[in-house]
Amino acid sequence: MVTILNYIDGRFVPAVSGRTLDNWRPRDGRIYGTLPASDVADVELAVKAAEVASAGWRKTTVQERSQWLLKIAAVIEERMDAFVCAESEDQGKPEALARRVDIPRAIENFRFFAGAILHQSEEAFASSASVLNYTQRSPVGVAGLIAPWNLPLYLLTWKIAPALACGNTVVAKPSELSPYTAFLLAEVLQAIDFPKGVCNIVHGLGAEVGDALVSHPRVPLISFTGGTVTAKRISERAAPFAKKLSLELGGKNPALIFSSCELASAITTSVRSSFTNQGEICLCTSRLLIDQKIFEDFAHGFVKAVQELTVGDPRHSENELGALISAAHREKVDGYVQRAVKAGAKLLTGGRKLSPPGELAEGYYYEPTVLLVTDPSFEIFQEEVFGPVVTLTPFATYEEAIALANATRYGLAATIWTRDLTEAHRASADVESGLVWVNTWMNRDLRVPFGGMKASGVGREGGRHSLDFYSEEKNICLQL
Ligand code: NAD
Repeated sequence: MVTILNYIDGRFVPAVSGRTLDNWRPRDGRIYGTLPASDVADVELAVKAAEVASAGWRKTTVQERSQWLLKIAAVIEERMDAFVCAESEDQGKPEALARRVDIPRAIENFRFFAGAILHQSEEAFASSASVLNYTQRSPVGVAGLIAPWNLPLYLLTWKIAPALACGNTVVAKPSELSPYTAFLLAEVLQAIDFPKGVCNIVHGLGAEVGDALVSHPRVPLISFTGGTVTAKRISERAAPFAKKLSLELGGKNPALIFSSCELASAITTSVRSSFTNQGEICLCTSRLLIDQKIFEDFAHGFVKAVQELTVGDPRHSENELGALISAAHREKVDGYVQRAVKAGAKLLTGGRKLSPPGELAEGYYYEPTVLLVTDPSFEIFQEEVFGPVVTLTPFATYEEAIALANATRYGLAATIWTRDLTEAHRASADVESGLVWVNTWMNRDLRVPFGGMKASGVGREGGRHSLDFYSEEKNICLQL
């Protein structure tokens, strides 16, 4: 059994109330530990610790902060195996994926911002011979950072690293469904004697810990990654305080497959973009829009490749998909599929819960699922499923392809498949999406702006956008 504790002011502590939540293991559906069911009292302690620590941390030089981030990265790297096992055990993802993507990216988040902060410059404007304007950056204060369960350490550190780099202190809230690697990160902080109170981690439910952070008058900045419905509530709660708010939300991401594409790589990468991490990545493709001229060929190759995907024990490297995050989430995913079929979508493959033999029988496995949908008003075409489920839809003209791509309230990530450069530029401009990948997917450069349009988010993070968000920029005008 793993007992996860809060990390407040450099100490591991249970919730003030003593309450705990059970932690479920997706691969076998068993409880394997507990986490604190923290509430407003724990958040208050963490905010106080962060405020006290702020006096020292904000005065550190960028070189000192950079060195601390590099130290954190190095110790996570040393403990790679423990982080990989924990991420898979907690989230259900294949260990191989955690080893290839999640944990290396968490390390890279610290290293990237350790470097970025050293290369940041201020601006100066010689307004006239006797007037000089210049800018100065300062930390915002105590940063409230709220993360989801799908890429637990990857997304939590995408917030913690730039927040610390910019001189803020932190109260972070991991998802209650995947708290384990955040706990291991706190162990790393303690092991390297990271200054007490600078980075606090409080576990518990969103409605308790998350809400207490969002509505805390002395937490001036909230960075939230999660669902669009939760974001609405957070926006309402944060509005009276005029907080700095970054919202990275859901998607219903289209892949536009034009007839001029290189078919084999469009199929191979679209399978990967649809089903990596069991489809539980906000950037995963969920609607494949295919030129009717190549629809039969694409659909045949795609469905065949999907049927060859292996689902099972996330500890075994031959399995490409592990288990979904929770029993409730699997029910939700299955509900979308069953309603789609009832409404008239054609099931091309999948559509069932899986129950592997033996000790994994109660795990939350689901078949990779492909549906043919021709009516964009279908729920399955409109709502984020966030699981291993995609739809195929043919289009006849370029205009129809763009209309279908833009026919949902979301606008996070699109992929475009074409060998025609003009078509690539034209479609990239026409599609309503914060990120567009042409003939590739999940090809990330941490310097680029990351974020969504429409209901997929507000604001951009990444590179200088994160440095801007996590600092206050001041203009100073000097009469010489
Ligand atoms: P969620 O909104 O349920 O929860 C996200 C976090 O918010 C959790 O830590 C949760 O405890 C907390 N929370 C819940 N209610 C809260 C409240 N009232 N106040 C404050 N905090 C609260 O989302 P989820 O189910 O954990 O994650 C899945 C969603 O996240 C999907 O919609 C997915 O697309 C989105 N996501 C977006 C990105 C992105 O970068 N755009 C990345 C990953 C996931």
